[in-house]
Amino acid sequence: MIKGNFPIEKLKALPTPFYYYDVELLKETLNVVKTEAGKYNYRIHYAVKANANPRILSLIAENGLGADCVSGGEIQAALKAGFPARKIVFAGVGKADWEIELGLDNNIFCFNVESVAELRVIREIAASKGKVAPVALRINPEIDAHTHAKITTGTKENKFGINLGQLNGVLKELLETNHLKLIGIHFHIGSQITDLAPFQSLLIRANEIQDDLEAQGIRLENINFGGGLGIDYYHPNHLPIAPFGNYFAAIHQLLKRRDGQEVRFEPGRSIAGPCGTLIARTLYVKEGETKRFAILDAGFTELIRPAMYDAYHRIENITSNEEVETYDVVGPICESSDVFGKDVELNKTRRGDLLALRSAGAYGEIMASQYNCRKLPVSYFSDTL
Ligand SMILES: *Cc1c(COP(=O)(O)O)cnc(C)c1O
Repeated sequence: MIKGNFPIEKLKALPTPFYYYDVELLKETLNVVKTEAGKYNYRIHYAVKANANPRILSLIAENGLGADCVSGGEIQAALKAGFPARKIVFAGVGKADWEIELGLDNNIFCFNVESVAELRVIREIAASKGKVAPVALRINPEIDAHTHAKITTGTKENKFGINLGQLNGVLKELLETNHLKLIGIHFHIGSQITDLAPFQSLLIRANEIQDDLEAQGIRLENINFGGGLGIDYYHPNHLPIAPFGNYFAAIHQLLKRRDGQEVRFEPGRSIAGPCGTLIARTLYVKEGETKRFAILDAGFTELIRPAMYDAYHRIENITSNEEVETYDVVGPICESSDVFGKDVELNKTRRGDLLALRSAGAYGEIMASQYNCRKLPVSYFSDTL
């Protein structure tokens, strides 16, 4: 079996489970993102929610990217990691008052506003501070991203974004007050989108919206297409970097970009996903009557994506080269959903073997919980091991 390149002897010495981050791969990914986005002068705001590990955040900040935050805690984490406030965008359907104040006090780049109710609260808080809040309207483009139902966000009557039919009313209200400044529009249609077609539909919709707004005399300085670019969970060894080149080229080909307009993206998974691996130890191999189970010391408390989204992670036994057998790979949590994979082909697995759950850098460590009174996972980095 082809496996990732892991410093096995070093990993064997560490207590499990833990996250292992390949810093070289993250740096290479960031270089590709910068080069490909740089061709069109696109601005990139890393979606902090994918992975807010302080070391990962600083590596991304050092590379000059901005941050996309969805909570006050993420704004604090981003600032601490070195992202300048002027490169922070703040989205989320339920911004609390203190979070809005935090954004205003730090003079973040903009609030991506998701409802008229939120717009009114931002206006009040900005007015009380004698400030003008920079606002981009998150528009629900009513596009199906053809991804898992739990990670699609752009279909009609979704909790995210302002519906197209309500846009004019919201704009009217926004333009009437001098404590809000419209700086642009924002979209985010979903996550783990591996087919470019939904992005192409989004571009066509965005062009129409722009034409409509211009007809009303509204010119947009910024347009933000959010995140969502998928990664190849099936072939992490062959295709470790998301197809940023094709993605940005497809956007460039379709977008009717206005003179001087800034174009932004918020990739999360495609930046942080590939470089992270959850390393777990095999506690027991249980021979059932029809199945064989590899029971690990990691469960959905460390990596919830399989239980929550039916997500696939490639699993490799990195300490065995014996013949391949079939296993159900499960965790120790007292819930039947605590399964990482069914009928997984692994080199013959014994107690003590290390299993690598690949492509777990995004929505992995950050979603860890303490259910069953478990400890939160620790992390190690390839360059400081
Ligand atoms: C989650 C999210 C992202 C990042 O999505 P990925 O699929 O990880 O690229 C970007 N923007 C917003 C508003 C989000 O909620």
